[in-house]
Amino acid sequence: MSAKLILGTEIREQILEEITQEVAQIKEKHGKVPGLVTILVGANPASMSYVTLKIQTAHRVGFHEVQDSQPETISEADLLALIDKYNKDENINGILVQLPLPKHIDEKKVLNAIDPDKDVDGFHPVNVGRLMIGGSEVKFAPCTPAGIQEMIVRAGVETKGAEVVVVGRSNIVGKPIAVMMVQKGRGANSTVTVVHTGTKDLAAHCKRADILIVAAGVPELVKPEWIKPGACVIDVGVNRVGEKISEKTGKKIAILRGDVDFEKAKEIAGYITPVPGGVGPMTITMLMLNTLRSLKYKLGLM
Ligand code: NAP
Repeated sequence: MSAKLILGTEIREQILEEITQEVAQIKEKHGKVPGLVTILVGANPASMSYVTLKIQTAHRVGFHEVQDSQPETISEADLLALIDKYNKDENINGILVQLPLPKHIDEKKVLNAIDPDKDVDGFHPVNVGRLMIGGSEVKFAPCTPAGIQEMIVRAGVETKGAEVVVVGRSNIVGKPIAVMMVQKGRGANSTVTVVHTGTKDLAAHCKRADILIVAAGVPELVKPEWIKPGACVIDVGVNRVGEKISEKTGKKIAILRGDVDFEKAKEIAGYITPVPGGVGPMTITMLMLNTLRSLKYKLGLM
């Protein structure tokens, strides 16, 4: 048996197309487009390339996009004043501060200064609380977990009553996806177990999973024999295990592996996400969806 691949690269294209169409409709009816500002402090090459990708995607779907680059030396007070400016800006619906920030700035203080109604990353404690309450209380689900849930839904995998096992309990992936899958509603209503380094028998839990979501950051942690035949396996892990020369560009690129032994697992699972090309492309896509939602809330369309 060979698993059906759930490709983030394909689902991204569908969702970005849907967003583009909705943005055009809202612009025609209400004369507004979603506005996203990306604040970059310093010149960390990885951060710069993430920000560029976010801005390019925002541009592609027809958003008003602002890239605000600040020097490494900006003071915490000035950065907080900048956030305040965008909190009050009528044309901005989403504020994103690219992490990490320089050591002299308190990251938590800065993230908590973002207006929760413009917190399209979904990390503000108010939005974490809303996610926990669930239902119509939720405004912005964090982007990677939202992407995971969307992939499961679009692949047509039944979640109601499913045994979901989440490997990892981070605040950005493990905990929020566990909370989302346990809620009553679309793409959820599951029975959820969260496992971590304190878990006694990781294999036994994984073997029960109808849907196995792995976000540990350990290359090929999940062995093929831990996978229930026919299960849906979502591999969130992105691990650099070496380097190779790209056939396309001739440049050095990282060799990436997930947290699951993909080649063997795909012979057992019913559905599986590859690495790269699985969960990865969904995060920025859901950021765009959250920014669109933010404008829709403001216009009373949601
Ligand atoms: P993290 O903050 O390091 O958390 C990892 C979690 O996995 C922790 O809860 C840890 O348990 C658990 N864990 C680690 N080793 C384990 C083991 N041997 N057995 C059981 N549990 C184990 O990582 P993260 O930020 O959630 O990210 C996880 C992975 O997803 C990384 O590879 C990251 O690069 C990737 N990621 C991808 C995307 C994307 O594709 N868009 C987004 C976010 C993250 P303890 O709590 O007990 O330490």
